Amino acid sequence: MATDPIFDPALLSKYDVSGPRYTSYPTAPHFQAGFGEDAWRRHARTSNDDPIPRPLSIYVHIPFCSNPCFYCGCNRVVTRDRSKAEAYLQRLAREVEMQAALFDRDRRVTQLHLGGGTPNYLDAGQLRDLANLLRSGFNLATGEEREFSVELDPRHADDALLRELVAIGFNRVSFGVQDFNPVVQEAINRIQPVERTVAVIEAARAAGFRSVSIDLIYGLPKQTVEGFAATLDTVTAIRPDRIAVYSYAHLPETFKAQRQIDAADLPTPATKLALLGTAVEKLAAAGYRYIGMDHFALPGDELVRAQESHTLQRNFQGYSTQADTDLIGLGVSAIGRVGDCYAQNARDLLSYYAAVDAGRLPIAKGYVRTAEDDLRADVIQELMCHGEVVFAEIERRHEGLDFRAHFTDALQRLAELARDGLVELEAGAVRITARGRLLMRIAAMAFDEYLARPREQQVAKFSRVI
Ligand code: SF4
Repeated sequence: MATDPIFDPALLSKYDVSGPRYTSYPTAPHFQAGFGEDAWRRHARTSNDDPIPRPLSIYVHIPFCSNPCFYCGCNRVVTRDRSKAEAYLQRLAREVEMQAALFDRDRRVTQLHLGGGTPNYLDAGQLRDLANLLRSGFNLATGEEREFSVELDPRHADDALLRELVAIGFNRVSFGVQDFNPVVQEAINRIQPVERTVAVIEAARAAGFRSVSIDLIYGLPKQTVEGFAATLDTVTAIRPDRIAVYSYAHLPETFKAQRQIDAADLPTPATKLALLGTAVEKLAAAGYRYIGMDHFALPGDELVRAQESHTLQRNFQGYSTQADTDLIGLGVSAIGRVGDCYAQNARDLLSYYAAVDAGRLPIAKGYVRTAEDDLRADVIQELMCHGEVVFAEIERRHEGLDFRAHFTDALQRLAELARDGLVELEAGAVRITARGRLLMRIAAMAFDEYLARPREQQVAKFSRVI
């Protein structure tokens, strides 16, 4: 799937509906409170007995931020009281102890991600303590194969911190930028001068990070096509290995911080579409390849190579090159996955602390996938990562399956998308076209059994495609 996406405004407008991002299937809103600590412990221990146990992946959520960005929809706590970080790290230590006891020590951690919130709300010493803590419980990989990434706020990063993170073992970093236009930055309460951001990115490379990513957002208040084009020019000149361009979803009823944004300052739907079109055009012109959803990467990047070699994965961190791993989520709201089950920690600090202080894993809900979920997750992963599903390949992996008979309804739904030129339906395969690439989740949704349920049984609200 090496073709650049074709930006087709009419098609994008027609299919600008709400839909899951498929970082898991089923998606997190389907997790159930009936799944708790005992179930997770059972599944974790069982995973050690696989003939070849999967490597481990760890996600650590650091929820604190010192300043509220008005567009924020993350699970975060805004505070300048640094003692809160110490209290949190103490709980993380206990959680690491409990989780580490469940997994055989010889299972290597090949993927580690620190997200937030703002991971660099923690200072260099606290980040080192956290790394030592993880190392005391788990077998962290030290070779080139490791993918240890951290999200950083450039406003709070300096040379010393970057060098410390590399010394700890991190080799990937992503920086939140959103938009360099000062007018937009003021409207979103995130003042981040371009000179400072560029200097921090250069310092990250000099410190030894082997991959740098930048996150942008389109659809923010006061954003204009000209202003965003200038941001894209600045960003592509920096040549980050990866660029993510997310769509801003204005949901002030759900995310309190967004109530600070005056809806009248938001771009119109036509402008928002033009902002996306500008990003697609400029990134392609600058030599970036489209991976899928919001992600672009330089041709030599591992994500591009993984897509070419058909080994790309999609997980809770987005796209990844790591083959099937078991994921341990640490910290408030973090999600884990072992084999066929998911578990999510309590989403608020009080419940998280109460569970850990009582010596319990802070799991609030979870889900055990059925064989039908596994099959559909496989099909959706193929579409989201590789833009095609070859029926015979899926049949080979799922014994006794007759793809066409099993997915009659999904194929009927796809027939309409085929008429609009979003997918091509062949006798033994479905392929997303260049025109449909920016709408890949629409094709994936055709295979989502949960979306096909009656309206009153729908449990989730999802973001719109554009
Ligand atoms: S966008 Fe990021 S840095 Fe800003 S408040 Fe939200 S979590 Fe914190």
